[in-house]
Amino acid sequence: MEKRVRVRFAPSPTGGLHMGGVRTALFNYLFAKRHKGDFILRIEDTDQTRFVEGAEEYIINALTWCGIPPNEGVGFGNGKHAPYRQSERKDLGIYKTYAERLIESGHAYYAFDTSEELDEMRKRLEAAKVVAPQYNAVTRQTMRNSLTLPEDEVKRLLEAETPHVVRLKVPRNEDIRFHDIIRGWVVVNSAQVDDKVLLKSDGMPTYHLAHIVDDIEMEISHAVRGEEWLPSAPAHILIYKYLGLENDMPKLAHLPLILNPDGHGKISKREARFPVFPLSWQDPREATPYLGYKEAGYYPEAFVNILALLGWNPGNNEEIFSVDELAALFDFERVHKSGAKFDPEKAKWFNQQYLRKKSDEELADAFEPFLKEKGFSVEKPFLMAFCRLVKEKVQFVHEFWEQGKYVFVAPEAYDEKVLSKKWKENSKESFTALMTAFSNLKNWDVSSITTCFHAVEAEKGKLDMQVLRVLITGVAGGPQLFDMLELIGKTAVSDRMKQALEKLD
Ligand code: GLU
Repeated sequence: MEKRVRVRFAPSPTGGLHMGGVRTALFNYLFAKRHKGDFILRIEDTDQTRFVEGAEEYIINALTWCGIPPNEGVGFGNGKHAPYRQSERKDLGIYKTYAERLIESGHAYYAFDTSEELDEMRKRLEAAKVVAPQYNAVTRQTMRNSLTLPEDEVKRLLEAETPHVVRLKVPRNEDIRFHDIIRGWVVVNSAQVDDKVLLKSDGMPTYHLAHIVDDIEMEISHAVRGEEWLPSAPAHILIYKYLGLENDMPKLAHLPLILNPDGHGKISKREARFPVFPLSWQDPREATPYLGYKEAGYYPEAFVNILALLGWNPGNNEEIFSVDELAALFDFERVHKSGAKFDPEKAKWFNQQYLRKKSDEELADAFEPFLKEKGFSVEKPFLMAFCRLVKEKVQFVHEFWEQGKYVFVAPEAYDEKVLSKKWKENSKESFTALMTAFSNLKNWDVSSITTCFHAVEAEKGKLDMQVLRVLITGVAGGPQLFDMLELIGKTAVSDRMKQALEKLD
């Protein structure tokens, strides 16, 4: 029988979430949803030295904001596998039990080397030009561990509670084969693998041991994670094998890296900005705070859509997908092996697509605080009309101001380029005629404005639309001109034309 799909996102609370981390969470979420399985949030906090206050809450907020909440785990409700924080799971004694099983079967051992001794070893190996100096099948023979020391000495050291770690005993030369859903079969020789520490001297398990114990205990069906974990997978395979759990281990899927737009190198931290970034929360390791996607004005739906297409494709040319649509389509067969290029410009385009789908009312409500900040307050219907008009020009809500501020403030300067090219000798006269005709209009709506404009043209000759736009807004481009005029209003339009014509004398 196929195992129930149970997947986990297992971040360490060492800071905010990187874009790649959220994508890992997303792919887990989509896969669980597609197969009506469980999506678990497990906090891997065994490295107390890297613990960052507030990071866990941040992770929970980020997943919630993205609309991809786990259905089990820290912050999302306990299932039968609680607790979901590894620091709390340590007290269950499970990590120690598994480590002892490995020691008893001869696949793990105690190592008493001090950090000075380890340093010396590294130096010795470097001096001997060993490419990858590490604690392994060869070097362990010269170190102080339960494989080299006499049995009674080991016993004495343990009884005296001499600081020690437990290491995995990796064979010297053995091919380790494993299957990855995305990469296919992978073969690595054990000579490449070091004797990983499983239990640290403070009794805490390392990631390597802890995640395996938890994946087994929590009945995880698929371990989906970033490519950076691929190099340690062979060691993990050995641990499963030595525990006799090869048949119970989760299937593996290592997701491709996210690359810079030019395809070279991993995406920079700045571009990988955090999705949710409570303003009060500042990663203590970052000198300057930077915006998250949320603060930059991205919609969560857009952000998730962007992430989904980083390393996965739907098999057609469509680009806009809701989370539910993604969940109906997602599978690992369409996840690529090679790195996924992240294009920040394209990301903005995605946001724009979602912005265009919002109602005028939603946009007006979202823009109102920005407008207030600039010192303006208008009636809701007016603001809705404004948003309807300017919507085509913006990618983010806050851009409504930059793109349409002239609706609220009369221009003080006029686009020189347009005027120097298009301002003719008779312009003043014809635009003055237009101004007068405008101020005599009874109805102020697009069709009256249009009729009036053409009537003046019939009399005075062609009127340049761009010049008219510059006279009223100061700038060369913008949404439909007559719609703009209607919105700005008859009095304001006439006043602005008057002011401009005086200035352009
Ligand atoms: N704690 C690991 C991390 O921070 C989890 C890796 C895994 O999913 O196995 O990425």
